[in-house]
Amino acid sequence: MKHKWSEKTRQPNGDSRKVCTREGCDIVCMSCHGVDSHGRQDHWKEWWRGSEKIQVGGLTPACEPVEVDA
Ligand SMILES: [Zn+2]
Repeated sequence: MKHKWSEKTRQPNGDSRKVCTREGCDIVCMSCHGVDSHGRQDHWKEWWRGSEKIQVGGLTPACEPVEVDA
C-alpha cells in the first residue's frame, strides 16, 4: 500500500518533512541534507515513527498500521 503523504513542510534548516496520514501508519519522511566528512553536499532520507528513527535511506518502508504502545 502506498503512503498517503501530507503536504511537505519545509523546516527552518531547509530539510523537508512529510507525514503519512493513513491511520495507524503515521510514518514521517524527513528529507535531510548536510555536508559529509569530505565537505561535499550530502542528502538522505530518514523515516520516523513518533520519536523513533526506524530507518535511514534505502527503500520507503511499507505503509501499514503498527501497534503503538498506549
Ligand atoms: Zn503510510
